Amino acid sequence: MRIVLLGPPGAGKGSLASLYRERLGAPHLSTGQIFREEIARNSPLGQRVKAYVTSGRLVPNNLVVEVMAKRLSGRGGSSRGFVLDGFPRTRAQAAGLDRVLRRHRQPLDGAVYLTSPTSLLVRRLSGRRVCARCGENYHVRTMRPKHLGRCDRCNGRLTTRKDDRLETIRKRLSIDRKAAAPLLAYYRQKGLLFPVNGAGHVETVYKRTLGLFRRQDWVN
Ligand code: AMP
Repeated sequence: MRIVLLGPPGAGKGSLASLYRERLGAPHLSTGQIFREEIARNSPLGQRVKAYVTSGRLVPNNLVVEVMAKRLSGRGGSSRGFVLDGFPRTRAQAAGLDRVLRRHRQPLDGAVYLTSPTSLLVRRLSGRRVCARCGENYHVRTMRPKHLGRCDRCNGRLTTRKDDRLETIRKRLSIDRKAAAPLLAYYRQKGLLFPVNGAGHVETVYKRTLGLFRRQDWVN
């Protein structure tokens, strides 16, 4: 299956994409995770994107599309398809992604749009913890790790993302709201937009999306 996961910060894109990778074998590419890893390595790309990512502003479209074009041509863009999480975030990025996929003759199956009330997004983001090593997401109340402060997958240390502070959360949600309308319209026009109720536990939302994937014949 070849899908993009759309929805505001806190909609559950990362947690779901991680389950698709584990249970459906679908490669997961997260722009936010790629940027955080590059920042941690202090690479040239990391240095270019650091100020944007830590303050919650969007990285310029050209740079994001360039990074994702490379990843999709590499290992991430395999015959098993892909789940893109956090990309595209703007209409210009969606058009850029289409150009890349046309080159690879790999048309998108759909854009899955996770909807949630703002109060829930703020609660999820402010309680989120992330593995410093593999990027897996947890929540202090609703998705606890088996061992306090340690990642179930790789035993890495769990941390709070710098951009998950309350002022930055509000700013990110407002930036996302502005970019979302043209982005959603882009996929709606193409008949590729599939809204899914993203409220509830991750397992509940997983089941909802799996139902959609099966109805659409994207998975068995
Ligand atoms: P995320 O992990 O998806 O919440 O992304 C964290 C941060 O990375 C965002 O607040 C942006 O600064 C940057 N970022 C991630 N994906 C994109 C994108 N598609 N376009 C622009 N900036 C992005």
